[in-house]
Parts: sequence; structure tokens; C-alpha cells
Amino acid sequence: MTATIIDGKAEATRLRGRIADEVAMFKRDHGFAPGLAVVLVGNDPASEVYVRNKATQTREAGMASFEYRLPESLTERALLELIGELNVRKDVHGILVQFPLPAQISAEKVIDAITPEKDVDGLHPINAGYLAAGKPGLAPCTPLGCVILAKKVHPNLRGLNVVVVGRSNLVGRPAALLFVNENCTVTIAHSATRDLPGTCRNADILVAAVGRPKLIKGSWLKPGATVIDVGINRVTKDGGGRLVGDVDFDEAVEIAGAITPVPGGVGPMTIACLLANTLSCARRKLGLPAAA
Ligand code: NDP
Repeated sequence: MTATIIDGKAEATRLRGRIADEVAMFKRDHGFAPGLAVVLVGNDPASEVYVRNKATQTREAGMASFEYRLPESLTERALLELIGELNVRKDVHGILVQFPLPAQISAEKVIDAITPEKDVDGLHPINAGYLAAGKPGLAPCTPLGCVILAKKVHPNLRGLNVVVVGRSNLVGRPAALLFVNENCTVTIAHSATRDLPGTCRNADILVAAVGRPKLIKGSWLKPGATVIDVGINRVTKDGGGRLVGDVDFDEAVEIAGAITPVPGGVGPMTIACLLANTLSCARRKLGLPAAA
């Protein structure tokens, strides 16, 4: 068997196009553009690329982009003050602080400082609580992308067995909750899981969010399973700087029914979902339902 490749790049392009159409209607109806503030502290090269891409795609969708590039030496207090200003600015509907932050700044304090209504990363405890309670809020972007890609293969997720490997607040945990809210039966696996291969074999949909290159082998998959590989691992030793996922793609593609590639799978969906969350924030501010 050779799995269908789930084209995250094409799906992200389609989603961004839909958002751009909705933004155009929003501007026509309300006379202003949704705005996203992105804050980068320091010079981490990967973060610089992410922030540049986020700003470009925000503008391409017709939204306002406000970028803050701040020195590595920035104090926690200064960053919290900036967040306080952005929280009350009328033209800023979403706030994203790029992680990782320098050691002198507590990520937890930063997450807690962003007003939940503008928390486009969906990391504030209030939004995490809404997600856990199955109520409308803002969910983290990468897990949202995982669900959209899974729905490309299974338009109705109801009753499917989903195994999420990884339980971070950024990916694994919210991904598991989003699938529960889609009426899936969900197992969360992590570093203390006793029989990871056996657990994975129960999955109709396997979501890998571990950060370990090629951890998940083809023999761990139920034949025909859908594999959503969130992992982005740069293999430097023998791989010449290639990006690989948490799933051994060459093995998995022979067993799975459908699989996301790395790169070109989940990755491109993250920014598209960020734009969707920003539009949702602007719509909710006006008492309208979240973006479609
Ligand atoms: P974290 O390091 O925060 O979490 C990793 C999780 O994997 C933890 O829950 C950990 O378990 C679990 N884990 C680690 N080793 C094993 C193991 N051997 N067996 C089972 N579980 C294990 O990573 P993130 O969630 O932030 O990211 C995961 C991956 O997704 C990374 O490769 C990252 O680069 C990528 N990523 C991609 C994004 C995108 O596509 N845009 C966005 C965000 C992340 P425990 O909790 O027990 O320690």
C-alpha cells in the first residue's frame, strides 16, 4: 500500500484565500482591517523567519501587521508593559509573542499577560480552559491545522480512535482536546507511556507531536491509518540539514492510508490558522461569530 499524501501547503493556500475573502468583506462592512501584532525578542534565526512569514502572510490576507523587534537584553517588565499597551489598542485584535524568549523573561508570565480576547496563540489559561470545557474560545494554531488536515481524509471524525503522541500545552494536549470535541475517542501518549508501539497501533488517526526524528515506525501503525506528523526536526549528522518528522515517513507511507509530509504538511497550516484566529478575534470584538 502507498499512502495518499496530505498536501498541507495546498490546503493552507486554500484556507488563506478563504480568509482573505472574509477579510475583504469584513473591511467593506466595518470600515477597518483586523490587526495582528507580532513580537520578537532577540535574534533567534528560526524565529526571525517565522515572524517574517507571519507578517507577510498577514498583509497578504488584507490584515494590518504590527511588528515589534526587540533586543535580546529586553527586560521582562518592558515586555509586559508592551503587552499591556497592545491589550488596549483598538487597531490590534491579535497578539502573538514569538517563543522561545530569552532566559530573563518568563514565558508563563507573558502568556498570562495577554488578554484572552487577543490571545491568537490560544495559550492563555482562560482559552485552554474553554477548550477543555468544549466551549468557544481560541485554540492553538498548530493543533487546529491538524484537525483540518485530518478532516480532509475523514470529513466526519465521529467515533474514530485518535492517538496523540505528546502532551505539550502548545500541540499535544490541545490537539487531543480538539479531537475529543470532534467526538473522537482519544488517547494521549507521552514519555511515560508503557507500550508506545501497541498504543499507536490502535489509532485510526495518529498525531505525532514529540520532537524526536523518525521515532514512530511503520510497524507501529494500523494498516490504512491516517498519520498527522507535527514534528519538525533538523537532522544534521547524516541527513545534511534535512527536515524530518517524528514519523519514519519512508516506512509509514507503505502502511498508512494517508500521511502528512515534513516539510509541507502540518507546518504551513499553522500560519493560516493564526490568520483565522486573528479574524475571529476581530469578529468577536464586534459580537460576530468566529471566522468559518
Ligand atoms: P515538547 O518538547 O514541548 O513536547 C514533546 C512531547 O513529546 C512531550 O509531551 C513528551 O512527553 C513527549 N515525548 C518525548 N519523548 C517521547 C518518547 N520517546 N515517547 C513518547 N513521548 C515522548 O514539543 P512540542 O509539543 O512543542 O513540539 C513537538 C514537535 O512539533 C517538535 O518537533 C516541534 O518542532 C514541532 N512543532 C511544529 C509546529 C508546526 O508545525 N508549526 C509547531 C510547534 C511544534 P513528556 O510530557 O512526558 O515529557
